This record gives sequence, structure tokens and C-alpha cells, in this order.
Amino acid sequence: MTDTLLAGLPGFDPGWVWLVGAGPGDPGLLTLHGVNALRQADVVVYDALVDSRILEHAPKSAEMIYAGKRGGRPSPTQRSITLRLIELAQAGKRVLRLKGGDPFVFGRGGEEALALTEAGIPFRIVPGITAGIGGLAYAGIPATHRDTNSSVTFITGHSVTGEVPDNLNWQALATGAPVIVLYMAVKHMGRIAAKLIDGGRNPDDLVAFVSNAATAKMRVVECRLSDAGETAKDVEAPAVIAIGPVVGLRASLDWMGRMNDGRVLVSPDTAQDAAE
Ligand code: SAH
Repeated sequence: MTDTLLAGLPGFDPGWVWLVGAGPGDPGLLTLHGVNALRQADVVVYDALVDSRILEHAPKSAEMIYAGKRGGRPSPTQRSITLRLIELAQAGKRVLRLKGGDPFVFGRGGEEALALTEAGIPFRIVPGITAGIGGLAYAGIPATHRDTNSSVTFITGHSVTGEVPDNLNWQALATGAPVIVLYMAVKHMGRIAAKLIDGGRNPDDLVAFVSNAATAKMRVVECRLSDAGETAKDVEAPAVIAIGPVVGLRASLDWMGRMNDGRVLVSPDTAQDAAE
């Protein structure tokens, strides 16, 4: 069946780099373009958050290069990763750069693609399902819902320096962004929650931490914004954090938790609010 689905998808020419999103975890969330890319790759340069079952789509002969880094901080290896991609492409390889989630969402795919452009290397982008949408869906949290929010805002909790981004208007976000989805924010959650509350956000707003979303280790913890800093101390990264009324829908929509009976945590007070 896969072969019929893959028929007609593009051929991977030597000397090209394809920047591919692997999705948040579950190998079933890889796209057909992603599988098509893996099947043809000579070299796969992959990140920490990519499931090993996804890598198995690559030919046995493919060279697998681990380029993992964690925490979202600027890493001295980013430049060397980019240089490596360029070198491999110049050597005539089909180079697959495989990233967690979507390559263009907080994944430095834009930076890598710009470097490829500067080096004159042709490339293709294969989008993936980003953790802030697909990961939340696995926790039963829709990014939008007609009754609660007409917009959703994605924020990184880490700037280039590793600090809470200071180029954001936290006050505007506090009052103007009904649903906020944070990436790379577990460590700084206390400070982020304080900035939002100082900016006028209701301290009772619902918050969900979804760690290892769409993997066998997925865990969801809910709390109020005022407790988010404290709660974050027990949350394992990687996690996406949702703030806003959509979190309340989880009590009714937690399809995954129902299947895994008891593994997923819902705090009693949010479950009760949602029930009311
Ligand atoms: N390009 C990725 C994001 C990379 S930044 C994407 O589109 O999803 C890394 C951050 O992504 C992590 O700190 C975490 O906030 C989030 N993330 C990635 N995979 C995740 C997962 N399986 N569960 C929860 N969060 C995840």
C-alpha cells in the first residue's frame, strides 16, 4: 500500500538537502513526503527528538548522523551542523535533515535553509506536524475552538541567549492572546507566568503541560496559571504548554487518556470546572 501512496512523489536528486519534519513523536505522524525522503536518502542528519522507528525507513546503506541538542539554547554545534549539510551536499549526497515536529517552527529550519541558499545548495522543505498542535491533540486539547478562541499564539520560552524572550510584548500577549502555546518553556515557566499575570492575565487561567507528547512516555499535568511555575518543577522536557480555555475541553476530549486508563493526570479542580 505504501508504494502506491508514494508513487508520484518527487525523486531525491544527488546534491540536494531536504529539510524534513518528523512530527512530534508517534511514527504514524510522519508524512508520506517524509517516508519518500527517508527511503531515498544517502545521509540522514537527525535530531534528538526523532523516534528510532522513523529512522528505520532509511535504507540500511544510509549514513545516520546524530545532531541532537536539547534545551533550545544556542549551540556551538549549530554552525557545524549547517557546514556538514553543505559539505555532504557538495559531495553529491542526497542529504536528509530530519527534525522533530515541523522544521520551520522553532526548529532552526529557516536558519539552515538560509545557509543552504547562501551556499547555492538546492533544497526542499517537507513540513511536519508541530508539537504545539499535534502534541496537544494527543492530550485532547484543540488549538482552537469556535466558542473559546479565534486565535492561537505560539511562543518560545527561550530566546537566542537562553533567557525568557525580552522582545515580546508580554502585556499585549497577556490580554490579547486567548490561547498561548509555549515551546521550550518548562525551565522558565515561573517567570513567564509572572509576566503574563503582571500583564493582566487571569491567574486562574487553565494550564496544561504535555510532556513527551505523542510518545509512549506522554504525560499531562494541569494546573492554574498562578501555580504553573511550581508545577513546572516536576515536568519533564520536552513539553508543550497550553494556556487558556481550550485546556478545559480536555476533560471531555482526552481520548488518549481514556485508552491508557489512569496514566494521564488531570487535576481534580480543572476536571470539576470543565464538568460544570
Ligand atoms: N520543530 C519542533 C519544535 C522544536 S523546539 C516542532 O515543530 O514541534 C523543541 C521544543 O518542541 C521542545 O522544547 C518542546 O517544547 C517541543 N516538543 C517537541 N517535541 C515534543 C513532544 N513530543 N512533546 C512535547 N513537546 C515537544
